[in-house]
Amino acid sequence: MKYIFVTGGVVSSLGKGLTAASLGTLLEARSLRVVLQKFDPYLNVDPGTMNPFQHGEVYVLNDGAETDLDLGHYERFTNCVLTRHNNLTSGQVYETVILKERRGDYLGKTVQVIPHVTDVIKDRIRKLSDETKYDVVITEIGGTTGDIEGLPFLEAIRQFILEVGPENVVNMHVTLVPYIKAAHELKTKPTQQSVAKLREIGLQPQVLICRSEQPLDRDVRRKLSMFCSVAEKAVIEERDVEHTIYEVPLTLHAEGLDQLVCDLLHVETPQPDLNDWQKFVDCVVSPSKRVKIAVVGKYMDVRDAYKSIYESLTHAAASEDCGIDLKLIDAESLAHGVDDQLKDVAGVLVPGGFGVRGAEGKINATRYAREHRIPFLGLCLGMQVATIEFARNVCGIKNANSTEFDKETPDPVISLLEEQRGVRNKGASMRLGTWPTKIAPGTLAKKIYGDTEVTERHRHRYEFNMKYRDGMNAKGFVISGTSPDGTLAELIELRDHPYFVGCQYHPEFQSKPNKPHPLFRGFIAAAVAYQTGGEKPRSTIKQPPVGVSDEELVLQR
Ligand code: GLN
Repeated sequence: MKYIFVTGGVVSSLGKGLTAASLGTLLEARSLRVVLQKFDPYLNVDPGTMNPFQHGEVYVLNDGAETDLDLGHYERFTNCVLTRHNNLTSGQVYETVILKERRGDYLGKTVQVIPHVTDVIKDRIRKLSDETKYDVVITEIGGTTGDIEGLPFLEAIRQFILEVGPENVVNMHVTLVPYIKAAHELKTKPTQQSVAKLREIGLQPQVLICRSEQPLDRDVRRKLSMFCSVAEKAVIEERDVEHTIYEVPLTLHAEGLDQLVCDLLHVETPQPDLNDWQKFVDCVVSPSKRVKIAVVGKYMDVRDAYKSIYESLTHAAASEDCGIDLKLIDAESLAHGVDDQLKDVAGVLVPGGFGVRGAEGKINATRYAREHRIPFLGLCLGMQVATIEFARNVCGIKNANSTEFDKETPDPVISLLEEQRGVRNKGASMRLGTWPTKIAPGTLAKKIYGDTEVTERHRHRYEFNMKYRDGMNAKGFVISGTSPDGTLAELIELRDHPYFVGCQYHPEFQSKPNKPHPLFRGFIAAAVAYQTGGEKPRSTIKQPPVGVSDEELVLQR
């Protein structure tokens, strides 16, 4: 088993996760079986409770783990399917150690950072080291070298290298080489200092990944090599990409990173096959057409808050030879009307979210998309909002609402299951992770997916209230997918609309380059059709959905 550790220096936000994921892409293209994991030094047990303003999106795995968004990069850039074991936080480490201490597992010893905390960290690396499944484990350590919180992780890595042998390990340090305009010079000092900090802890990087705005010339490379004790060919330039993050594996390959890492790990592999990846990048970089898509949400200034959604749009657009102009609209600005804000868009997407803020604006945007027959995709909360909108404005249920927004609403079209069942104690916890959906025949959803059973990732509490199903169906609101027992609505669509789809789950967590998610692909295809004047959904969706009989709706009781 081979190990790669990725640390970061100088500043945060250098794209360490992306770099680690891109190395994963390259090693997989060389036929190696790769798995990635992230160590997060903060004390939260998981990012599930963290504010998207601070921490970006919470990325949900198949097993329901709420994880750091870098795991999204890992799954998009490689074939690995991750579980909760692939994201370790200091919170989890200390929780484990303290539980063990309380159980008496330490047999009266003094419990210390070394060895007890570092042992838990090393165990996690070993747990992933299943030779039957993987050849290489790539571990990214969150934060920046020099952070107090990161020290136990770095110490654990130092010990781990001693145990598995340095010939099986590569330490890769992602650092910033800033360009100082006044001096017209790239500066190596911050990197030197960051590497010095690593060495203090006993870690010597073999590879430097230098994030910079300018090309690194020979002198800079030599200097970095000499001061940081890294071979000159292991000083890798990673300049800001011009168009898309999906260029990163290609630029790192051009710098020789994958060959270098294989040499350092003493593994022989074929040259990487990057043809499909290159083709995908070409589609992203120079599409033959463009569509404007509005995303109406809450965190529009924080690009990371809806990361997987933006990536999924990119994947879908590339597959339709199309570029995307995103129009990011703060839902609160639509609270009193949409005005002209959606006049020029070919698609409206309402993402997931929690809480009432922005809800009325999202409802207004949804209404506009429905009435103007603009393709609409509602994800999780987006589906719930679409339900409320239809109930209010088409079915005349004026006070329809979600109990998340109004506890006392007389018409809870969206509510907690406990509330629907009349249970008083409403401590509903989140429905998390992968659940199956049965898709009703004859629906648009069936045409989009081409399948009658799919599994998708969830993260929500509230559900469609089946009490309203028949009344809303009579007006054209179709529940096109449900849980296998038919009790939970998973997918909705409108009978009289070219592409109006909402899902109770998060398809954005399962989209990849060259493997766009069907709901996003259908959405973009419909947006292209809308823009070119025809309303027809894309070619594989031959007909708008026809009426669905009740037997089909009630899939299995
Ligand atoms: N707040 C909603 C719920 O809990 C939707 C959650 C989401 O969009 N992820 O059901």
